[in-house]
Amino acid sequence: MALREIIKLPDPRLRLVAEPVQEISDEIRSLVADMMETMYAAPGIGLAAIQVGVAQRVITLDLAKKDEPKNPQVVINPEILWTSEERATYEEGCLSIPEFYEEVERPAQVRVSYTDLDGNARDVEANGLLATCLQHEIDHLNGVLFIDHLSKLKRDRIIKKFTKAAKRAEE
Ligand SMILES: [Zn+2]
Repeated sequence: MALREIIKLPDPRLRLVAEPVQEISDEIRSLVADMMETMYAAPGIGLAAIQVGVAQRVITLDLAKKDEPKNPQVVINPEILWTSEERATYEEGCLSIPEFYEEVERPAQVRVSYTDLDGNARDVEANGLLATCLQHEIDHLNGVLFIDHLSKLKRDRIIKKFTKAAKRAEE
């Protein structure tokens, strides 16, 4: 296992549409192990492969609270099958947009099909934080960031801030 670098806004790779995983190969298993390690180290509760620069439809999650045992979950090739009309608002953040948090409204419940790391087809009906987290991470697979759900004014402001910071870091 190895830590991988988390790419940050405005890295254009964050806008790529990730490719479906064709086979759970050793390469995918090693990617998942690295993503878990990187996610725990950040620390974060969810990570999409593109955030470590790999445009594959792979997500790692662990929504366990600090005092609970770890609950690592691997979501490969997810598809949103259904979303509720009821909506919920959570304050979201993103490891690729550090130290920026904003409330985002999304469907409160979702049903998602995916493949697990053993190659089994699975189906989950999620609500609460898991529903939000799944939608946030699946957005990443489609090149969408949580700031895309904010007003254009807020989005432009945060993109400008991170673009300036990236330029300063290059100098
Ligand atoms: Zn994110």
